[in-house]
Amino acid sequence: MKDLKHLIYFEKLLEDANNDLVRQAKAEGKLALGYTCFHMPEVLLNLPNCFSVRLRAPNTGSMEVATYYMCNGSCEYSRALLERAMEGNYKFLDAICGVDLCEAMNRCMENMELLHIQDENKDKFFYTNTDVAYSDDEDSVVHTVEQLQRKVLNKLHENYGVDISEAALRKAVAEHNEICRLITEIGEFRKLENPPITGYEFHVLTLATYTCPKYLIIDKLRETLEEIKTRVPDEKKKYRIKVVVVGSEIDDPDLIKLMEENGALVVADRFCYGSFPGRQEIILNDEEPVLKQICRHYLQHTECPRHCAPHRVQHRYDFVNQLVKDFHADGIIYEQMKFCTYWSYERTLASYIMSNEYKIPTLSIDRPYRARSSGQLRTRIQAFVENVEIKKIKAKREQNSEEK
Ligand code: SF4
Ligand code: SF4
Repeated sequence: MKDLKHLIYFEKLLEDANNDLVRQAKAEGKLALGYTCFHMPEVLLNLPNCFSVRLRAPNTGSMEVATYYMCNGSCEYSRALLERAMEGNYKFLDAICGVDLCEAMNRCMENMELLHIQDENKDKFFYTNTDVAYSDDEDSVVHTVEQLQRKVLNKLHENYGVDISEAALRKAVAEHNEICRLITEIGEFRKLENPPITGYEFHVLTLATYTCPKYLIIDKLRETLEEIKTRVPDEKKKYRIKVVVVGSEIDDPDLIKLMEENGALVVADRFCYGSFPGRQEIILNDEEPVLKQICRHYLQHTECPRHCAPHRVQHRYDFVNQLVKDFHADGIIYEQMKFCTYWSYERTLASYIMSNEYKIPTLSIDRPYRARSSGQLRTRIQAFVENVEIKKIKAKREQNSEEK
């Protein structure tokens, strides 16, 4: 396939948390608000004069100092963030909006705060840690509204004078929805027999929407969508099987590249936040306060394994099954950031259920924060691809002999 015109541009933006567009928006006087989890509604961090930055730790190498402050058993994502924070990589942020959901990330942010990493020379900088409910009922919505109003919106208003009115929230939702429509439309092409976009390319585009000021990338995203509409895929398919990837957030598109280099084309991703969930439009009514509707949307759309009510667990299995059908996948790869408690039990249970009850070939892996160089992962993916391919050939033979 011909290279996407802006791919290198988007890839470059992912090489640094404080990338060119973040610097441009800061120079225009905008506030950069960092966050690390789907449960911090991204749309609230994109009110007028603000932009959200999903925190990543590109080019992470050693995590020794962070491991000293935390421990070996904390997930590598949280340690990588602390290490990079200590090196001064997130000094551009004006606030870090955390959620009190996982011990590893709590410790990461607590250490940032205790070490005064972010707040030097910034009297208005703040950390916040909101408690987000475990379920999606209306009591949970009310609780989450209270937390986000008091700990995020009011703080933004008091510290920086940010407009938190209903009109401002509606405007932020409208802009958010435009990004969602673009990513969804691009993602729809992955349902085709021979998709004109790879999983790697899609992941790069989606990650850019989480890590860059959206108003600065939207034109190039629109252009990319138009390009994909007429892009001609390679005549000879480059993949051997198609997979849906499910698991912790993948900050490193090279992990998707590794899967694809070994024959598994990634046609849908179901990470903590990415496209499913994360790029579904927020549909507002005119009757209720906007914040309440936003909170309900996030609680109902989360696929977080922390939500352990039986109907939510069942929903997650059914949702993955639906993605496999909609995107014509041959299998699933469940992946988990090493030492992540939530995903360790979700991955173990779900990979068993998807393969034994839903009868979908499933590979289950845990992986480091940066996984590209892992020879072990490569071998496991190759073996999985071969296995699924053999099953497909056998199934086809059986079908042919039944038809004769
Ligand atoms: S597992 Fe849940 S709490 Fe952890 S990052 Fe994902 S969405 Fe957030
Ligand atoms: S990957 Fe797991 S342990 Fe790490 S921050 Fe996310 S939820 Fe917490």
